[in-house]
Amino acid sequence: MATDAAAAAAAAAAAEEDHDIVAWFDSIAEDPGLVQTNTLRRIIETNYETEYLRRWLGSDLRMEDLEPEALESLYTSSVPLASHADLDGYIQRIADGDDSPILTKEPITMLSLSSGTTEGRQKYVPFTRFSAQSTLQIFRLAAAFRSRAFPIRDGGRILELIYSGKQSLSRGGLRTGTATTHFFASEEFKARQKTTGSFTCSPDEVISAGDYKQTTYCHLLLGLLHSEQVVFVTSTFAYSLVQAFAAFEELWADICRDIRDGALSRSRVTLPRVREAVAERLRAPDPGLAAAIGRRCEELRRRDWRGVIPALWPNAKYVYSIMTGSMQPYLKKLRHYAGGLALVCADYGSTESWIGANLGPRDPPERVAFTVVPTFSYMEFIPLSRTAKGDGGDGDFVEGAPLPLSRIKTGVQYEVVLTTFTGLYRYRLGDVVEVAGFYKGALPKLSFVCRRKLVLTINIDKNTEKDLQLAVERGSRLLGDKAGRAELVDFTSQATMPDHRRPGHYVVYWEVKGAVEDGVLGECCREMDEAFVDHGYVVSRRCGSIGPLELRLVGEGTFQKILDHYIGNGAAMSQFKTPRCTRDRAMLAILDACTVKAFTSTAYNSLNLI
Ligand code: AMP
Repeated sequence: MATDAAAAAAAAAAAEEDHDIVAWFDSIAEDPGLVQTNTLRRIIETNYETEYLRRWLGSDLRMEDLEPEALESLYTSSVPLASHADLDGYIQRIADGDDSPILTKEPITMLSLSSGTTEGRQKYVPFTRFSAQSTLQIFRLAAAFRSRAFPIRDGGRILELIYSGKQSLSRGGLRTGTATTHFFASEEFKARQKTTGSFTCSPDEVISAGDYKQTTYCHLLLGLLHSEQVVFVTSTFAYSLVQAFAAFEELWADICRDIRDGALSRSRVTLPRVREAVAERLRAPDPGLAAAIGRRCEELRRRDWRGVIPALWPNAKYVYSIMTGSMQPYLKKLRHYAGGLALVCADYGSTESWIGANLGPRDPPERVAFTVVPTFSYMEFIPLSRTAKGDGGDGDFVEGAPLPLSRIKTGVQYEVVLTTFTGLYRYRLGDVVEVAGFYKGALPKLSFVCRRKLVLTINIDKNTEKDLQLAVERGSRLLGDKAGRAELVDFTSQATMPDHRRPGHYVVYWEVKGAVEDGVLGECCREMDEAFVDHGYVVSRRCGSIGPLELRLVGEGTFQKILDHYIGNGAAMSQFKTPRCTRDRAMLAILDACTVKAFTSTAYNSLNLI
C-alpha cells in the first residue's frame, strides 16, 4: 500500500515537472529574439571584466547605459568571429593554472575534451556548473516530450550504454575529461535519475570502470537482470549501441552462464571495484532466467540477431541515441537490432554548448530537426550557399554575414556560431545546419547537415564528410543488392597526395561482414568514384590530375582495433566517432596491416563528365 502511494506520488511529481518545463519552454518560444538578446546581456554582464572581452569591448564599457539591442550590435561589431585556434592560447593559460579572469569572471575549474575524432585532435573547452545544469535541463525538456509520445511507467529502468572516460589533472591542476565524463560524475546526473524516477541499470562503478569492454559486458548483464523493468535502451551516440549489440553476439553465452550461476565471469570482468559492485546485484543463481534468455538468444542467432532489443527487453518502448550526422551510417544496423521498436533521436549539442532538443520524438531519424534552446548560449548563423557543383561552381561554401537567430530562414543552410556562459565568444562551431521550420512559428528547428570541414581534398576538389557518406552509401547499396547478406560494418578514407609516380587519389577503406564477390566490390568502387559529383573532383578525374578511386577491403575486426587505438590514447567511448578521413599514422598503419584486397575504379563514366 505504502509503495503504491509512493509510486503514485512520484508519478504525479514527474508529470508536474514535465508540465512545468514544457510551459517554460513555450513561454520562451514566444519571442526568441528577445530571449537571445537577454541571454547575451547576461553573458556579457557576468564576464565583461575578463581579459578577452576587455580586449575587444574596451575597459570602459558602461553596461547600464546600453539598451540590450545596442549592446548586441556593439558586441557583434566589436568582437571578432573566432575559431578554437584563436582561443587556444587563452585556454592553455587556464589549463596551466592562471586563475585570473581570462575568459570568464569566475575561475574555470574544469576543462572538457571534445572527442577530437572529428577534428583529428582533442581540444580543451571550459566546463562549468552551467554546462552540467544545461545538460540536465535539455534532458528534462526532451524527456517531457518523449513521455507524451511514449508514456513509460514510473520507476522503470534504463539500459544505458554509457561510458565515463578518464578524468585527469591539467598542468595547472584543473580536472579534465570529456563533457560526458564530467556530466556522469556530476550532481546533476544523480538529480536526473531522481527526478525522472528512471534509474540506469548499472552502478557508477560500471559506468566509470575505464575499460569499455568490461563496462559493456556488465551493462548487458545488468540490463538482462532487469529485463522486465527496462523502459528504453539508450547511449550517447548510436555507435556505442551498435558496438554493444555486436559484442553481445559473442558475449551472450557467458552472460547467461553468469546469471545461471549467480557469479561474474573471471575472464570477462577483472576490475575488483566493478566485480564487487556487480556481485552485489548478482547475488543468487537464477537458472530459470538464464535458460529463458539462452533459448531466446539461440533463436535470435538463427535470424542474425534481428530484433534482439525487443526480444530481450520486452517492455522497452524505444531506442534513444544520437543517430544523425556522422552516426547515420550505423542506422541500418541499429534498425536491425531494434526490430520494429521506435528509434528516437537524441538532442543536438557539443562539448561547447547544447544547441537544440528533439521535440518530435516520433519523427524518424532521417527527418528529425532540433528546436533551438535560446537560453543556453547566444547564437549567430553564417549563411552558407554551396556553389552548384558541376555547374561552373567549385562546390565550396560561400559565406554571408552572420545573422541573429531571429533573422534566419527556412531552407537555408548556416554555420553555427556560439557565445557561451563558459567563455567562448563568437566561436565558430564548424557545424552546418539547415532551418527545417519553426516551433510555435518562432523558434528555429535545425536539421544537422554536416561538419563544415572538408575531409577529402587533393587539389581543387572539395568534399565534406557528408559527400563521402553519400558516396559510400551509394557504393555499398550494391552489397545488399547483389551480395545477399553482406553488409558494411564501418568505413574511413584518406586522400593520397601526388608523387612523381602517380597523381593523388581517394582511398576508401571498408570493413564488410559476410562474403562478397570481387566483381561486386569492383563495381562498388566504381559507383563510389562516380558518386563524388563535386565539380573539382569530376574535372580533376577527367584530366587525370586525380587518379582512380581505390577501395581497400580490410579484415573483420579492423575498426575494433581502430577504436581500441583511440580509446588507448584517451578518447572516451561515449563520444567516439570513427574518423571518416585520416592522416593519423597509427590509424593508417592499422588499416594498411589489415587490408586484404584492393580494387581500383576502372571506367569513369564519361556521361558524368559533361
Ligand atoms: P564532441 O566533440 O563530442 O563535442 O562532438 C560534438 C559534435 O558532434 C557536434 O559539433 C556535431 O558535429 C556532432 N553532433 C552532436 N550532436 C549531434 C546530433 N544530434 N546530430 C548530429 N551530429 C551531432
